Amino acid sequence: MNEQESNRAMAAKGEDAYGFQGRIALITGASQGIGRACALRLASYGATVALAARSQEKLQAVAAEIAAAGGQARTYSLDVSSEESIKSCAKAVLADLGKVEILVNNAGITRDGLTLRMKLSDFDDILRTNLTGAFLLTQAVISSMMKTRWGRIINISSVVAQTGAAGQANYAASKAGMIGLTRSLAREFASRGITVNAVAPGFIQTAMTEDLPEAHKASILAQIPVGRYGSDADIAAAVAFLCSSGAAYITGHTLDVNGGMYMG
Ligand code: NAP
Repeated sequence: MNEQESNRAMAAKGEDAYGFQGRIALITGASQGIGRACALRLASYGATVALAARSQEKLQAVAAEIAAAGGQARTYSLDVSSEESIKSCAKAVLADLGKVEILVNNAGITRDGLTLRMKLSDFDDILRTNLTGAFLLTQAVISSMMKTRWGRIINISSVVAQTGAAGQANYAASKAGMIGLTRSLAREFASRGITVNAVAPGFIQTAMTEDLPEAHKASILAQIPVGRYGSDADIAAAVAFLCSSGAAYITGHTLDVNGGMYMG
């Protein structure tokens, strides 16, 4: 039996394949797409997951899915563009679950447009949601990780942080900012047993990408050596690895999960 098979077999038996049993994980943007997939994956390995986003109805459905599979999940209202909402969400999670050991800063939005026509609000809103939100939520839960002397922070960046993308100056800047944030936090908290890494997805089939014009999607597919679009499960697998006890010596890293679309 190879390592993956034995992990799966252990997880199926409810044993601790990845060192997650009893860990508390907070995942933003957990109502759908990549965040939902990360929550399902971490819960399947035994973590208790705090699911946070704006849409409570969708979060409840994800929590029910996790509970039906034998996992533990709670839902929290969170708008990462609001400092107040971030503080009250962190407070509620800490009050209910006692600590946060894993934070996945996944919530994100796009508002594409060419630079010449981009309004300041389109730039600011994307930075505030995608980047400032990750910074503030980290600030709100880091003391808890420092007390435990164990923590994992994963920031969901993007391939466009490294390649740039016409029409996405705001989004690419926010995602490149997450890489700088990741490296700085990694340096600040390494001595406390806390690792901080980024995952840079390529083109992943979720609601965020489904409305792109077919011709644009086809031109992207032609640039992916693996020959398919990514799935939310591809990203969740990478996040789970970086959160695991086996990844303790990896910090400040950006893990490309893009089918070879960009090789940094
Ligand atoms: P998605 O399906 O659109 O999901 C986005 C999630 O973020 C939703 O759960 C949404 O929940 C949440 N969210 C948005 N604004 C929020 C806010 N202000 N406060 C709290 N939660 C908020 O997109 P996805 O593809 O799963 O994307 C997840 C992350 O991966 C994003 O950061 C995205 O930039 C990144 N990414 C995606 C791709 C891709 O190809 N799909 C590629 C690279 C990177 P509510 O609306 O309920 O709040």
